[in-house]
Amino acid sequence: MNQKIKIIRIDKSKIQDVDFDNFSFGSLFTDHMFECDFINGKWTNPTIKPYQPISIEPSASVLHYGQAIFEGMKAYKDKNDVVWLFRPDQNFERINKSAVRMAIPEFPKELFYEALTTLVKIDSDWVKHGDGRSLYIRPFVIGNEFAIQAVPSKNYKFMIICAPATLYYTKKLKVLVADKFSRAASGGVGYAKAAGNYAGQFYPTRLANDEGFDQVIWTDAKEHSYLEEAGTMNIFFRINDTLITAPTTDTILDGVTRKSLIQIAKDIGINVEIKKLKVEELKNAAKNGSLKEIFGAGTAAVVSQINAFQHKGEFFELDKQDNSYAEKLKSNLVGIQTNQLEDHHNWRYKI
Ligand SMILES: *Cc1c(COP(=O)(O)O)cnc(C)c1O
Repeated sequence: MNQKIKIIRIDKSKIQDVDFDNFSFGSLFTDHMFECDFINGKWTNPTIKPYQPISIEPSASVLHYGQAIFEGMKAYKDKNDVVWLFRPDQNFERINKSAVRMAIPEFPKELFYEALTTLVKIDSDWVKHGDGRSLYIRPFVIGNEFAIQAVPSKNYKFMIICAPATLYYTKKLKVLVADKFSRAASGGVGYAKAAGNYAGQFYPTRLANDEGFDQVIWTDAKEHSYLEEAGTMNIFFRINDTLITAPTTDTILDGVTRKSLIQIAKDIGINVEIKKLKVEELKNAAKNGSLKEIFGAGTAAVVSQINAFQHKGEFFELDKQDNSYAEKLKSNLVGIQTNQLEDHHNWRYKI
């Protein structure tokens, strides 16, 4: 297949033991994983091997200072059993953008593609078609220096693991608009897919869960007056017939789903405005009936519709839309991802 990556195949695949109609996402991984170490200033020893535990030093900097970044992408299988990635160039660019912000060395482009395509090819039986099925791919990098100084690690581990996925978040979400906690602050790391961004989100999200909400809608850290993201997704609002989403700044993650939905909306004639929206504007729109839809957008759930939100004790519920933009955009995006619709922008990448 290629010379550079060393491949150690599993003796016997675990796939026969898997019930693909009944498993919980994230608890099941494919037969193989990719591993590559950064040592002495170089990415070395790229290897695909059976999925297994890794051993790291207790002093590794990821464990103490959280030097870790990741990506999330999916592979889809069409009805002719061809496997496709969706805009992998975007994930490649973004993991290196995250790397720069977290003082992690960038990963070489050719090796990224080779690792990704070789791994997915080897485990392609794990990519199922139909019913929103896909293979979730998780590239990540951790600081792995055998020392405890509070400086960037000298050694790193880049890995890719893969997990079969079905569509989740099928029910409509009830969300709480943050007025105290923040996900990201200006000048911080919110635009990077840094592991710590998630850790910092767990506690306020759990408090919201305890009050009966599914997610937190993050607002700007300074005034809590502008809407930024929905949990770990970008967020869209439909006011009358205009779709609104915030511009990507250093506090908003530049989602691949977000930018694809913006393009699809334009392609199918939906008016899109990229602008900052105030919580007050959202509440007014809910009160006067012009707020039609809210939805989150991200690789894992694709589009998650939100039908109720609360802010400072005021609760709002949205009416069901017959002509839902969320549904239309989602079916167009999934249609492109799964090779059922024409790919005008060359987003699909054949494995
Ligand atoms: C990953 C992520 C998203 C979605 O990005 P996609 O590329 O669409 O998957 C949105 N917000 C945050 C905070 C994220 O970490």
